[in-house]
Amino acid sequence: AGTIIGLDIGGTKTRGVRFEDGIVVADESAGSSNVQNVSREDAAFNLAGLFARIAPIGGGEVAQVYAGAGGIDTDDDAAALAALIQPHVPGARITVVHDSRLLLAAGRASTGVAVIAGTGSAAWGKNAAGEEARAGGWGYLLGDEGSGYWLGREAVRHSLRRMNQGLAADQLTAALLESCGVDHPNRLIALFHSPDTGRRFWAQHARLVVEAAAAGHTVSQDLLDQAGSDLAGLAAQALRKLGLDGPVILGGGLGMNVAPLQDTFRKHLATAGVTDVRVLDQEPVFGVLQLVSDQGR
Ligand code: BGC
Repeated sequence: AGTIIGLDIGGTKTRGVRFEDGIVVADESAGSSNVQNVSREDAAFNLAGLFARIAPIGGGEVAQVYAGAGGIDTDDDAAALAALIQPHVPGARITVVHDSRLLLAAGRASTGVAVIAGTGSAAWGKNAAGEEARAGGWGYLLGDEGSGYWLGREAVRHSLRRMNQGLAADQLTAALLESCGVDHPNRLIALFHSPDTGRRFWAQHARLVVEAAAAGHTVSQDLLDQAGSDLAGLAAQALRKLGLDGPVILGGGLGMNVAPLQDTFRKHLATAGVTDVRVLDQEPVFGVLQLVSDQGR
């Protein structure tokens, strides 16, 4: 009850929703404020801009902020992010959890495993005994298999491998060069390491792999298959730890929108005997109301 602000902090954006007595009254987005990926200053700046737009007009009281954020692996990570939120909502209760925890609630499932396939990737779930399990979510330098960043980076690596072999640009490479505004794959190397590009920039290029796959480019189709397989692997690991065989809920920008990825994900889970696979049908931030009410129990 009262005023609740939900935040979903991913690798590309921060989505903020204000609920008044359970009704959405403000819904805004800002740049990422995931402190694993952006500087503390950028995170603070993006949060300030977001709160300026979603806070109650006239400074009304916010009872609680519930944030799901990527890159929250320890209590210290959660406390550091809570400290950035606190000045915007004096007096409010602030809860910071890993972003993957929003998905099961948003998917209206009380048990099961949720997988994020977004800028990054991660799986998290829980069972009826209240046990929780996570798999992946190590960030782009260590893992993030099957994520948008992974697909974008693989498109670059594919282009560089062809260059090594002295082969001409194929469909995926041609699309990548055009999108990056460079004329030769050797220019991708500096661009990849440049401070002007980053995790989000390359994650946005996942779209080129999806388009090339749809047009019949077999390497791109194989990359989508590998992504689906890796994401299914994360789900299967979390399910096994929990002694569950479903449901599995797929979310994240790629997971919610890219049908061929959903297909390969389902296919690989089916071979592991997991058939209750659902695609998230509302944004994770809307799971916040359920999580807040669970807290009160
Ligand atoms: C982060 C995880 C996060 C995942 C999905 C990864 O890059 O390391 O903490 O859950 O992205 O947003």
